[in-house]
Amino acid sequence: MKLNKIFHTIMFSTLAISATAGTPADNFKYTDEKFADIQMLRYKVQDFEKLSLQQKTLIYYLSEAALYGRDILFDQNGAYNLRIRKMLETVYTDYQGSRDSKDFKALTEYLKCVWFSNGIHHHYGSEKFKPGFSEEFFRNALKSVDRRKLPLSNGQTVDKLCDEVFPVIFDPAIFPMRVNQKDGEDLIKTSGENYYGTGISQAEVEQFYNSMHKAGDERPVMYGLNSKLVRENGKLVEKKWTTTGLYGAAITKIVANLQKAIPFAESEEQKAVINKLIDYYVSGNLKDFDDYSILWVKNTADLVDFTNGFIEVYGDPLGIKGSWEGFANYKDMATTARTEKMSQNAQWFEDHSPVDSRFKKSECKGISAKVITAAILAGDLYPSTAIGINLPNSNWIRKEYGSKSVTIGNLTDAYNKAAHGNGFDEEFICDANTRALVRQYGDICNDLHTDLHECLGHGSGKMLPGVSDDSLRAYGSTIEEARADLFALYYLADNKLVELGLTPTADAYKSEYYTYILNGLMTQLVRIKPGNNIEEAHMRNRALIARWAYLHGKDRNIIELFKKNKKTYMRINDYGQLRTLFAELLAEIQRIKSTGDYESARNLVETYAVKVDPVLHKELIQRYAKLNISPYKGFINPVYTAIKDNKGNIKDVKVTYTEAYDHQMLRYSTDYAPLPYINE
Ligand code: ZN
Repeated sequence: MKLNKIFHTIMFSTLAISATAGTPADNFKYTDEKFADIQMLRYKVQDFEKLSLQQKTLIYYLSEAALYGRDILFDQNGAYNLRIRKMLETVYTDYQGSRDSKDFKALTEYLKCVWFSNGIHHHYGSEKFKPGFSEEFFRNALKSVDRRKLPLSNGQTVDKLCDEVFPVIFDPAIFPMRVNQKDGEDLIKTSGENYYGTGISQAEVEQFYNSMHKAGDERPVMYGLNSKLVRENGKLVEKKWTTTGLYGAAITKIVANLQKAIPFAESEEQKAVINKLIDYYVSGNLKDFDDYSILWVKNTADLVDFTNGFIEVYGDPLGIKGSWEGFANYKDMATTARTEKMSQNAQWFEDHSPVDSRFKKSECKGISAKVITAAILAGDLYPSTAIGINLPNSNWIRKEYGSKSVTIGNLTDAYNKAAHGNGFDEEFICDANTRALVRQYGDICNDLHTDLHECLGHGSGKMLPGVSDDSLRAYGSTIEEARADLFALYYLADNKLVELGLTPTADAYKSEYYTYILNGLMTQLVRIKPGNNIEEAHMRNRALIARWAYLHGKDRNIIELFKKNKKTYMRINDYGQLRTLFAELLAEIQRIKSTGDYESARNLVETYAVKVDPVLHKELIQRYAKLNISPYKGFINPVYTAIKDNKGNIKDVKVTYTEAYDHQMLRYSTDYAPLPYINE
């Protein structure tokens, strides 16, 4: 599973929490170009140079193995995608006419969207892109370039190619959606993805796969995950994606690079993981895939890890077929060190927390964060990506062997840094001093808040005997998130963090206090449609804390809302007293949780966390819209270069971050494109 929930949550908080500005000292640029509804970002491969040569080499081959799968996904997303991409790319690179014309500019934008979505449908909404250039322009442009560079089938003329492919691009009635989910329609016949041959109905697919399930099988393989279903001689057959089957040319390249990675694996366990994956790519046997998944989920000790294969099923309207993805990563050492320090002191935090001693744990262990650094993103994780991953997807393997659940620290960081300088803080933060505070300490304190929340907050406190975990019912998750957030907020201002070397100064916490309240009182509302209530648990929790603190400090003017030029702003007048309010609310929330006080939970949430002031809401949405922040973001990969000695052995791997988006895409289309344009 991609942790989209986490993704959205962090995106919500990013809006306000990272409202900082300024460039990092080393001139690394987190933001890159914008087009359509997309903002391209870059991520930094933190501490890569500190890895051993063995680890760097392992990552190098794993990333090569990841990049070779790109065209599989293009073809899975639509039978014409590879040809359309090649036609567009050839015009993009070779067209001799005006590059300033409206048509050429529209073609450029369309191509950038096709690259981004790995096909002609929007990556998120799945609707087909509307080209802003004319059929006539594209036909003439294709005729003007070297025909040997075009994806012509045997004896085909350029006109015939256009006749065949243009309806797919230009006719809105053909494949309007990649994945159609409309209830009552034949989801297979009406979807543009390429997991099923033409003329196959939803009922046939369902019957085909239902008949595979054996009654009483408690460990079923994921039937249909790694094949295309087609009709041959009147019968439905699976064409497996293996080294010798469909997509064989790409899978062979993937396997070759996995083989090169094996000598550099960090342990015998990791070697076994890679070997099993190769077995599966060769056999296509889903039992091999399960065996691989079990080895993979058990392999947690090594620093480097990876995913490579047919994994997620969101691209198939019936959720059977796995889209190809590739990913290499390693443990985030800085965060791990930070959360280990917190974990070691977990008991101290528990003992000193402002809650009633009846609700405290006598023995408290923190957990270490599972944060990783992405080294390469590929297939269905590129350029648009998740920031958390939880695998494997097989239910019985999850039950018997557990799963790996990780958040990707350097991508979260990139999202945060990208919010720098987007105009957000100038628009919403009340004055220059506060902006400077947030600029200086916002990121570090935001990270600390997350660590405290995850590593200590959720684990703190205990239930009274006889109180059931779900006694707060629908209000349970909001109360639980509030508890973890308040624990974090309370301790963020504690000298203990300075003592442990976790905060730079005793005042740094103020940046997080400010952005937290700003988000909870105001800015998170821009994600809600006019007229709607706050529904999502994390958003409710932030509203609850911010509004409760505002109202309970109102007599002392602790948090102040004021108007300037008809705009609403927020100022914190007394940070010390705000901390006292957090302590008070934490004690009450812990009491509610520990005693299972449903009535009080309901009362708190309904009073503070649900309703939206329509006048303020409208104002905030208008102010936010003026900032023109792209709703979707994706990443340009770093470039890895293997430095070899004269015997061909890798002696170092260098990373650079300067490749342009179009260059990267064109390079991938040249260097990592082993598939034919038509895969049948
Ligand atoms: Zn939480």
